[in-house]
Amino acid sequence: MPPVPLPDSAAAAADFAHRQALALLAHERLCALYGAPFRFFSVKDPLSELVSAILSHRTRNADSHRAYQQLVAALPTWAAVRDAPTPEVEGLINPCTWPEQKAPRIQAILRELTERLGGALDLPRLTAQLTALPVPEARAWLETLPGVGPKTSAATLLFSTLRRPAMPVDSHHHRVAQRLGLIGPKVGTEASHALLEALLPPGWDAQQVYDHHEALMFHGQKCCYFRSPACRRCVLLDVCPYGQQLLGPAAGAA
Ligand code: SF4
Repeated sequence: MPPVPLPDSAAAAADFAHRQALALLAHERLCALYGAPFRFFSVKDPLSELVSAILSHRTRNADSHRAYQQLVAALPTWAAVRDAPTPEVEGLINPCTWPEQKAPRIQAILRELTERLGGALDLPRLTAQLTALPVPEARAWLETLPGVGPKTSAATLLFSTLRRPAMPVDSHHHRVAQRLGLIGPKVGTEASHALLEALLPPGWDAQQVYDHHEALMFHGQKCCYFRSPACRRCVLLDVCPYGQQLLGPAAGAA
């Protein structure tokens, strides 16, 4: 993940400070609304979480879960997945989107990890590697694996049993952040990772980072819908330029 450049003018610094304060305000209100702290939903080791994150890309949770379960039921070790014929892996993960792309990608990742870990898919060694590195470097290490981007690297570090403070941004989280003005209107999901993470206090632990991600994601699912966001009942309307513009003069009275 490329480093975020420091603001180089007073205006940029003021804008950055405003977005930081807004991110914290949104965090506080949404965490209170949705009942943080949230329980971590996954207890997977980092390698299993990495594969699971690849399967979940642009796939409904239920479908990626089914694909994962079918895969590990038929091929119970990651070495077996790595060495299986690619069409077999593709067939097993068929419930998820683009199995024809994800099957060779998963196998390429497993081969690359085998090489990096000294000739075997050595989970204790992988865990030690990802624990020893500072979070930005652990992310960079993961993101040099084939097809691994910032969302997958963050999910591997945060959602797995590693529980490291790296923040994934899914489409709901991204939409809420964009409408609030935490990121610009043209910033895509991938690029948003570094920008949104830079707004969080540097000392936040994994639970706080997880709560932030989950709270914004829940808000995208339960209120800030893609079509017709429910701005009138939104706890962020008073600080949301998108919602205020959408409601027009009625926003002040909402
Ligand atoms: S005010 Fe509307 S657009 Fe803004 S965060 Fe709330 S629901 Fe989304």
